[in-house]
Formats: sequence, C-alpha cells, structure tokens
Amino acid sequence: MEFVNSSTPRYECLLFDLDDTLYPLSSGLSDACANNIIEFMIEKLGIDEDGVVELNQILYKKYGTSMAGLKAVGYEFDNDVYHSFVHGRLPYENLKPDPVLRNLLLSLPLRKVVFSNGDEAHVRKALERLDIEDCFEKIISFETLNPKINDSCDADYLPEIPVICKPTEIAFEKAFEIAQLNPNTTLFFDDSVRNIQTGKAVGLHTVLVGKSEKVGGSDYALKSIHNMKEAFPELWSGSDNDKESERIAYTSQISIETSVEA
Ligand SMILES: [Mg+2]
Repeated sequence: MEFVNSSTPRYECLLFDLDDTLYPLSSGLSDACANNIIEFMIEKLGIDEDGVVELNQILYKKYGTSMAGLKAVGYEFDNDVYHSFVHGRLPYENLKPDPVLRNLLLSLPLRKVVFSNGDEAHVRKALERLDIEDCFEKIISFETLNPKINDSCDADYLPEIPVICKPTEIAFEKAFEIAQLNPNTTLFFDDSVRNIQTGKAVGLHTVLVGKSEKVGGSDYALKSIHNMKEAFPELWSGSDNDKESERIAYTSQISIETSVEA
C-alpha cells in the first residue's frame, strides 16, 4: 500500500500568472505597459504630468491595479478603451516562441490554468507569441472576472467591487469557482509578492517566480519558470512523495545560484 504523507501536498492543478511569470521581465512588456498607463492618465484622463507617476504608484498599491484605482477615485472610462491603449500597443514582437516552456507544460500530467489581470486579447496574444496558447485548459482574464452586464439588471450579476482583480481575495475565490479548482491541491505561480501573499491566505501552495528568495507567503521561489522541472520533479512523476526533500534542496540550490548571478 502506498504511504501518503499528509504534510506532502499532491497537486492536481497548476495555476499560472502570465506577465513576468510565463515570460521574463526582461522582455520589456511590463515597462512598456507602465509607460502606457502613465500616457493614458495624462492624455485620456487629463491628469497633470507632475505627480502622475506617484499617483499611479499609490493607486496600484492601494487598489491592486492602476485601472481599479482610477475607477475607485472617480475616473470614468471604458474598460476596452483602456485595455487597447495600455495593452494594444505593447512590443509583442519581443515575445518569442518558447519551446522549452511548451515542452514542460505539455509533459505535465496535471490541470493547467492561466489566471491573469490582463484582458483576454492581451493574454491570448502573449500566449500565442510564446506558442503555448494550447497548453492550458482554461484562461481566467479580466473579462472572466468582470463580465459585461449591459443586458442584465439582475442584482446577482452586479460585481461586489468596481473592478475584480488580483490581489483581492474575491478575485481568487471567483477564479477557484470558475476553474473548479481546489486551492489546497493547486500550485500557484506568480511574480507579484502581493498576489502570492493573497494566494497563500486563500489556501494555495505558492511559488514566487522571477526572484531568488522566498518572501512571507511564498512556499517556494523560482528564478525562472524554466526551472520548474528541477524544482518540482514530482509534478511529472505524479505521486512520488519521496521527492519533497529533493525539491527543497533544488529550490534552495536554485536560489543560491541565481543570487550569485544577480
Ligand atoms: Mg505578473
């Protein structure tokens, strides 16, 4: 009979953030996105150039995303217009097909779901550029969590808050419901410390991506998503509980190596 250690999670599902998680920060998309948000605030909302960067930082910090923050403090704009301005002009050409990641994902015998604050068009485009769009059973994007309610006046369909996005717990709970996943058997990959912390609080096992060292709330740290197999070999073997100690060794080894590189 197989011995199952209750302290060793057996994963059924992998939940992935997209931006700066499934592709590296060095692609430049995040920087371009930040610049586009600032431009949107100045050009479309008429916010004064002086202090706009600071305002954006405050809104992002307090409300989770710049968009949620702008809406919370009273700016009115169409979500689609915002997304096409902010995401529509990103340097997608910087994203190249990633056969290494594709092979890793396709060989994993587990459910795989993308969970992004980005709009559907952005998520699809980025996944297509990376050539991994067919590696996931489901994509949870901005529109998934914030469906248009034009045709419905039913109070049940009204959102709890103006914009539902990570890192709020509501966003995670909705994602679990939509993807029908159990957080206790799900491994969550994200580059955002805030998202990781909420993820941990709602029961996920968490992997901070793009950093060499763990933070409060992250169970593991992974410098690159490409290191997945070295860090979590048991994901491929299914139920090998003996790999737990090996994983810890690998994870810390990766952290040390990348600290030196950095
Ligand atoms: Mg991210």
